[in-house]
Amino acid sequence: MATDRSPRKVENPDSQIGIYVHIPFCEKKCFYCDFYSIENHSQREEFIDSISREIRHFSETHNPLAADTVFFGGGTPSLLKPADLEKILAALHDAFRISSDAEFTMECNPGTIDTAYLSDYKTLGANRLSFGVQSFFEDELRFLERIHGPAEAFRAVEVAREAGFDNINIDLIYALPGQPIDRLTTNLEKAVSLETDHISAYSLIVEPGTPLAGAVAEGRIVPATESVESSMYEIVMDFMAEHGYSHYEISNYAQGGFECRHNLKYWNAEQYAGFGPSAHSYVDGTRWWNVSSLAKYIARLKTDEAPVSAREKLTPSQMLDEFVLLHLRQGKLDTDILREAFGLTIDRDMISGLETAEYCVFKDGVISLTKKGFKVSDGIAETILAKHSPAV
Ligand code: SF4
Repeated sequence: MATDRSPRKVENPDSQIGIYVHIPFCEKKCFYCDFYSIENHSQREEFIDSISREIRHFSETHNPLAADTVFFGGGTPSLLKPADLEKILAALHDAFRISSDAEFTMECNPGTIDTAYLSDYKTLGANRLSFGVQSFFEDELRFLERIHGPAEAFRAVEVAREAGFDNINIDLIYALPGQPIDRLTTNLEKAVSLETDHISAYSLIVEPGTPLAGAVAEGRIVPATESVESSMYEIVMDFMAEHGYSHYEISNYAQGGFECRHNLKYWNAEQYAGFGPSAHSYVDGTRWWNVSSLAKYIARLKTDEAPVSAREKLTPSQMLDEFVLLHLRQGKLDTDILREAFGLTIDRDMISGLETAEYCVFKDGVISLTKKGFKVSDGIAETILAKHSPAV
């Protein structure tokens, strides 16, 4: 039951911030994607000037912060010319104390890989690449409206290694409409055959406002059922465990030591500063997010106005909700930390009930989700939070 709900210490004050940079350009918009990106690249140069200005503004309003992760996402960062990357990095280095061993990720589309670019990214400090492979089947890639084919995915990883990258992620999407189970296992086998140390596997989500959502609403596409998705998720979890990948977040698997340090900041409710249209930030207990429009973003920065769409100061109750939800998505909830940070003790009978139903095991104060628990981690978080919410 909840006693004192004021967080005493959620963030580690000594922890270093993560930096996110959103590159809002794609060669072609994918059918299912709801990230902010556009196909028109005519404002590329203005974007580079604007983001440098946004970073400078941040440094004028915050004490110099130490950072140990940098993540270029999008959109398609692999469209960035090295000279543009260099300009953005110069602004970041002026604004932050970026540690020499920082994890520095570039998201890459296998269809936009330029061997010379990758070498230059490496020279500029990038040490991790994340490829949106999604599938190794031509028809599935066409369905998703990806610009690459299966051969380019293999080639992208090969070229990345030639350029000196050994920390590589590949993203997969499963539970496509009508996807047979053997297609999933083939995709997993091919992914593992590339011997990358990190694999993210997401089920296809029908995001509101996307062309995919429109096709589903019109009955032209029938998404996978929850039960198919759940069976496929179990196959993914088993397969990754058999191949030595630890399941460290609901959709993420890594060989030892290759967990994504940047994404762990989001999942551990640590601080991050985001730049570029639609980018989110969370600093000193305040979260804000930028306008999802390149034109507005550029216009605001031209007049020295912050490109922020909205801000919110997280309440103690929101912090608690996020702490429970995000930690359960990593499969572990440390009840001692929960008690120390929020003064909240989870009812022992509730934990026993979850154990009896085989959703978790409870040992040394830590709730560890089973495979069955991972499938419903958000529901378990909701149950815990509902039970322990103060009466209103
Ligand atoms: S390449 Fe990535 S960011 Fe761009 S539209 Fe496709 S899924 Fe979205």
